[in-house]
Amino acid sequence: MTKYVAAIDQGTTSTRFIIFDKQGKIVDYAQKEHQQIYPQPGWVEHDPLEIWSCTQTVIKDALYQSNITVAEITAVGITNQRETIVVWDKQTGEPYYNAIVWQDTRTDYICNQLAADGGIDRFRAITGLPLATYFSAPKIKWLLENIPGLKAAAANGNALFGTIDTFLIWHLTGGTEGGLHITDVTNASRTLLMNLNSLDWEPEILEIMGIPRQMLPEIRPSSAIYGQATGILAGVPIAADLGDQQAALMGQTCFQVGEAKNTYGTGCFMLLNTGQQKVISQHGLLTTVAYKLGDAPPVYALEGSIAIAGALVQWLRDNLGLIQSSAEVEALASTVTDNGGVYFVPAFSGLFAPYWRNDARGVIVGMTRYTNKGHIARAVLEATAWQTREVLDAMREDAQVNLTALKVDGGMVYNNLLMQFQSDVLGVPVIRPQVAETTALGAAYAAGLATGFWSSLEELSDNWLLDQTWEEKMDEVEREGCYLLWKKAVSRTFDWV
Ligand code: ADP
Repeated sequence: MTKYVAAIDQGTTSTRFIIFDKQGKIVDYAQKEHQQIYPQPGWVEHDPLEIWSCTQTVIKDALYQSNITVAEITAVGITNQRETIVVWDKQTGEPYYNAIVWQDTRTDYICNQLAADGGIDRFRAITGLPLATYFSAPKIKWLLENIPGLKAAAANGNALFGTIDTFLIWHLTGGTEGGLHITDVTNASRTLLMNLNSLDWEPEILEIMGIPRQMLPEIRPSSAIYGQATGILAGVPIAADLGDQQAALMGQTCFQVGEAKNTYGTGCFMLLNTGQQKVISQHGLLTTVAYKLGDAPPVYALEGSIAIAGALVQWLRDNLGLIQSSAEVEALASTVTDNGGVYFVPAFSGLFAPYWRNDARGVIVGMTRYTNKGHIARAVLEATAWQTREVLDAMREDAQVNLTALKVDGGMVYNNLLMQFQSDVLGVPVIRPQVAETTALGAAYAAGLATGFWSSLEELSDNWLLDQTWEEKMDEVEREGCYLLWKKAVSRTFDWV
């Protein structure tokens, strides 16, 4: 009897395997962190084989803990940190280099070279994206230019490229014994190489970037039975693949045009469902594929990507040692009643939406002799809320939508002070669902739809249950005054490198 659907959620800091029931409730899960590798300032890497090993461990642990057998799992969906790349040897499975993570800025010079001919928006009409270190293609180009022998291996089809979903699916379906080399439309839409209309690799951009098509995976829908797992999940259909933020949009059941969610994890990502319409942003947002369910037409989204959100809380913990755990930031921020005039713009990887400035670096401004660690903690939390406000403003302009509420999820949404402040600065209610693991849930939903475990999107929407709402309390004059100060702080980050 198949009673459950499972998801592999391969995130920036950890990997989870979560088993869900028909109501979309978590039955059991296991999680394992992997190492963050920082070889030089601005470089961020992961060990791809460690990620594969963590994936196998969490699957094994969750099955063991729950006493659920593989036969009881009807399908498994994959969701993953997006844009992060791996290139590996088809014959041996050995990676040519560590995974280069989405936050990595080593490709700054490549982006500048490419932008010299046509500006940072030269590929926007085709791909929906500006030229930025964030996306996959400059990272692939860097590998091809820096790893001896890789160009030739890529040209003869021996070197395979993948985002993390592709790497995991290849391993799960047999690896060197004929593993599938595929990705889905949502992950492909983050490479800077996919044409948003044809949903295929764009030959002209491949040519400009010097990336051989032979190394790229086949692009599939986000929800479809791709094949069966071997090994630890032997026989279970692999039936969904979505980038983590698109998966969260599904998990929040934002299926109607105009519905949006914001996920507060390492970074912070707001996605707005724009249906079958591709809205090309005039205000620094991305146009991306939200999902494609089987043969149905693709659904698109506008996205505001913020590179550093929860990562700033981690920085406060790990680099400054001001707190012992991320959750402690709330208590520290509550020791003061306001930010004391301090603004912290965490442009650690440049600034993403709506600015797309690779040349920006972080600043703390407004400090006086009065400033204490409570003010810094508050400025840390407020940074996420203000960045979100900028993204929401851009969405209002681009899509002409009037958002009535914002659905939220991710690790930071258990911070009440932040959620209240978020509602205050947006001027709309912020609402949190009972199942906040929306990323994994979305991948499970897409997998269960492909295998008929769930029959319709309505059935999924009925599973969405409210946990908590925050209503705005701040005076409008105060809010807008603080917003101007935030923007002034942002302007101080530019032209640094
Ligand atoms: P990801 O999936 O990107 O790894 P998660 O959704 O698991 O991220 O969220 C983890 C992030 O949330 C971390 O960056 C952590 O610092 C932050 N975080 C977790 N709990 C809190 C909290 N109570 N207040 C503020 N930030 C938090």
